[in-house]
This record gives sequence, C-alpha cells and structure tokens, in this order.
Amino acid sequence: MPIAARLGVLASKHRSVSVPVSLDWVYDQYTVKMLDLSPAILGVAHFNRARGIKGIGLNKNQHRYTQRMTLAHEVAHDVLEHPDRFFTCRLGDWWRARIELEAQWAASIVLVPFNRLFEAMMDGADIRDLEDLFEVDRRLIEIRGSLSDVVKSVRAEAYRQQPAMTG
Ligand SMILES: [Zn+2]
Repeated sequence: MPIAARLGVLASKHRSVSVPVSLDWVYDQYTVKMLDLSPAILGVAHFNRARGIKGIGLNKNQHRYTQRMTLAHEVAHDVLEHPDRFFTCRLGDWWRARIELEAQWAASIVLVPFNRLFEAMMDGADIRDLEDLFEVDRRLIEIRGSLSDVVKSVRAEAYRQQPAMTG
C-alpha cells in the first residue's frame, strides 16, 4: 500500500477518538522497556518479523509526554512496514531520513487527531494547553505546522467577518 494511503487509513481510524489517545494496546503487542539513554536519543526499536521480535526502548530520562510521542513513533516504524532493523531515533532525525519523517507524521496523526486540534485552536488554546490536552510533546504538535497555518487563516477570516455579522 502506498505511504499516503497507509497514513490515510491511520487518520480515518482516529477521527473521533477521545484525547489523550490511549497507547495501552501497544504494551500488549510490543516489548516496551525503559532505558537509560543519552538525552539526544528519544528511543530505539528492534523489529525482526520472521523471528517475532518487536522491541521498543524508551528513554527513561525524557518527559512522559515525550515518551508517548516516541512510543507512537517507534510503533509507526513497524505499522508502516519499514525494513527489519535496529532503529535509533534522535531529535531532528525527522528531516534527514524519509522513514523517520514518515514515522513522525504517523505518530502525529495517531496522537493529535485533526478535529480535536482544530477545536482546541478555535477555542484559543496555546501550545502549552495543547501539550496537556494531547499529553504529547509540543514537537509532535508543531510538526503539523502547515495545519496550524490553515487554522490561523480560518480564525483570521472569522474575525474579519464578525463586524458584518453583528452589524
Ligand atoms: Zn525513528
């Protein structure tokens, strides 16, 4: 399945979920461990489908919201059928390697549902409010920068229309 179609399937499954999105199911399907990793590393993963290996390591030194972002990111490497290998995922990797960007996009689709982000921003939520709403690292929210621009333009348009509506 092409990458855009796979991302579309993920998005449609998460259109009306409650937030923060639960990742409890991940712990049933993957071996998840907390590791003492250096600050630059968000997490690691090791997948070997033939041998049934589905291992994920989260950096125990990171904030819980960052760990949730990383957990969804590592699962995405598996769900998006990235090649079997050992992944070491770092901050800023997303723009250097296509599979890292794909995994990060998928994580943002799962943990930051479009409609809930849109509603919150229309209600005037700032980035800190959004972090607490989705219980996720702001970098995952910000990766939808293009979406934020769309929302800003919609809000600006709504304000422009107010005088006409009240008058
Ligand atoms: Zn990664």
